[in-house]
Amino acid sequence: MRRVLSVLVTGGVFIALAWVIAELPGHVTAELDGTTIEAATPVVVTGFLALLLLGYWASRLLSALLNLPALTSRWRADRRRRGGDAAVTQTLVALAAGDHAKARRAAHRTRAMLGDTPQTLLLAAEAGRLADRDDETEAAYRALADNPDAALLGYRGLFRLAVARQDWREAAALAAQAEKAYPGASWFRPERGRLAVRAGDWAAALALSDPGTPRAALGTAAALAEPNPAFAANLAKQAWKDDPTLAPAVLAYAATLRSAGKERRALSILRHAWTLAPHPDIAEAALSEVSSPLDRAKAAQRLTNANPEHAESRLLLARTALEAGLTGEARHQVEAAQAAGFNQRRLWLLRAEIDEAEHKDGRAALRHAADALPDPIWRCQACHAEHDLWRGACRSCATAGSLRWVSGPPKPRLTIDG
Ligand SMILES: [Zn+2]
Repeated sequence: MRRVLSVLVTGGVFIALAWVIAELPGHVTAELDGTTIEAATPVVVTGFLALLLLGYWASRLLSALLNLPALTSRWRADRRRRGGDAAVTQTLVALAAGDHAKARRAAHRTRAMLGDTPQTLLLAAEAGRLADRDDETEAAYRALADNPDAALLGYRGLFRLAVARQDWREAAALAAQAEKAYPGASWFRPERGRLAVRAGDWAAALALSDPGTPRAALGTAAALAEPNPAFAANLAKQAWKDDPTLAPAVLAYAATLRSAGKERRALSILRHAWTLAPHPDIAEAALSEVSSPLDRAKAAQRLTNANPEHAESRLLLARTALEAGLTGEARHQVEAAQAAGFNQRRLWLLRAEIDEAEHKDGRAALRHAADALPDPIWRCQACHAEHDLWRGACRSCATAGSLRWVSGPPKPRLTIDG
């Protein structure tokens, strides 16, 4: 409707203008080089207007001709961009469909049309990854890493490749570079912490730990690996403070105290730990400076004084009493532990030794030992792998602080179907 009105108004204006021009009175005379030209005023005005219009169109045509190379170039660029956009879509669809051959072809076309932009490089890397072409993937990620605006994408991709080939040191270095390229991103610190654990770099793992990580285990492992005695002492003390029930932390702290000549303080730490969480290694450390069997039995009593009914206390008292020739006391402690429901193999083996020391038949105790619960061992609470010695992280699944001193088979995991 608006267009119709516009045409009507324009037509009306032209008719009015033509009518005004047609009604113009008089003649226009021009003399050029002795030649006189005379024409009616409407004809001259009309000719003048026609010349103006012609000039306008001529200038437009000239401008278009001058701009032709630039227009052609722009047209080609637009055409290439449209083709590139279509190739991007085809790459994304092929990636989503898992068609690695088509994805690689489309990604190659995308780079040819749009050049090496962060987007095309990322698509090329993903297509290469889908096709298991590590060479192509790595080249694309390296090109991304060289781009200051997209370096994070490149480093993260290279990091994944390093993790896939279990090159933990390279992965840690890449994670550090990624953090440098994009400071403050939440992804880096936990990743770097996990890598430090895998690489056995306990000090770095501790430095990168957050409140959710087992700092006592990391601190203990760092203390045990630290060559500088002063640093090791500080690490061990902090680990003990973080978890005074963790036997390795207690032992590491007590060892540093002993090295510094603080025997009384070391024994105090060991006794305190025995009241919280008794462990055979704590007893061994506490009694290590005592050689006489009778003195060892007395030292065991002092150690267990605050926690005498714990099964570990009874086992220690029984063992030291037996070694001191106090078989009656040894039997009393073993039977008390047994009466409290303790049923591990080591209890029955000890009982068999007591039987033997008292010249009794120990075969019944040995039969019980065969059916009893296994002795405790360091077991990963994440994957149930067993370890002869304590470590800062599971050797099997690399979970930090997952080892617990436990007995018996792992508990089956509950699963709910449906
Ligand atoms: Zn594990």
